[in-house]
Amino acid sequence: MNKLLELIENAKNIAITGHVSPDGDCTGSTLALYNYITENFEGKQVRVCLEKPSMKFSYMNGFDLISEDPFLQADLLVSLDASDRERLGIRGAMLDTAKNSICIDHHVTNTNFAKFNIVEDFRSSTCELLYTLLDYDKISVNTAVCLYTGIVHDSGVFKYQSTTRQTMEIAGALIDKGFDFTKIIDDTYFKKDFNATKLLGLVLTNAKLIFDGKCCYGLLDYDTWTGYIDDKKKMDGIIDNLRNIDGVEIALFMYETAKDEHKVSLRSINANVSSIATALGGGGHMRAAGATVYGKADELLENTILPMIKKELNG
Ligand code: 5GP
Ligand code: MN
Ligand code: MN
Repeated sequence: MNKLLELIENAKNIAITGHVSPDGDCTGSTLALYNYITENFEGKQVRVCLEKPSMKFSYMNGFDLISEDPFLQADLLVSLDASDRERLGIRGAMLDTAKNSICIDHHVTNTNFAKFNIVEDFRSSTCELLYTLLDYDKISVNTAVCLYTGIVHDSGVFKYQSTTRQTMEIAGALIDKGFDFTKIIDDTYFKKDFNATKLLGLVLTNAKLIFDGKCCYGLLDYDTWTGYIDDKKKMDGIIDNLRNIDGVEIALFMYETAKDEHKVSLRSINANVSSIATALGGGGHMRAAGATVYGKADELLENTILPMIKKELNG
């Protein structure tokens, strides 16, 4: 038996958490584990403590039970898809109060912040890693739907370099459980509402191409994006459009989250953007990383972020 299942076996009150601004992998892995435990273990109290994910993931079983509050009486805390304590937001407090904690993650920047840590940075997704820790025969359709969603999202629908034969084989084994995978991919990965699509158009129209066409960046101030959409998560995917421009090696998308506060997303073809994000106080993967930065957008770009990108491109 692996450490995760052993800890679950020996716990009664279990809290499951993941990173702030939960994406498909984070939402999928936390709810997959929630379903797996409630369906296969007797007498466990399981809570999913997580910032509310996008409603597009509400088809996952257990979604309605997600609570944003930390649960401070847990015997066991399981953290999924978070690279460090700060990424848990207010729920990081559970690390101090839970009797035991385990971190399951695939970020190269993971800090091994829990008591036990299962970190495999070659995995496409936390959902892929979690799958390898579970017993296939005990994975229900509900659990499979969650795991599949996470794998699809974090692998860019099986496109990113982190996709391996095993990623595909696991996805295939999950499909065997029987669910509408086309609908999951369309509804949660590709579909965008009309206003979000227009906002994407605006970013692309105003994007700048610099450093001999090797870097493309887009910017949005707070009033602009909130004039189109009500949820920042609807900007997911804008960065991929910038990265897909012919000749671009590093793409940058930055939007204002509050006065003098900006969320930065970085993507690359081959360059290491995780080191840039880490230097900015964030983290991520070699080809997909992000951070929150503080200051005026133009000054941050000119004095800090673009010089870092230039150095990475020349290095
Ligand atoms: P995104 O650009 O889609 O928000 O994030 C890309 C990757 O970078 C994800 O794997 C995400 O977990 C990581 N990431 C994004 N923002 C931050 C951050 O502020 N801190 C850390 N440590 N990782 C981040
Ligand atoms: Mn994630
Ligand atoms: Mn992930």
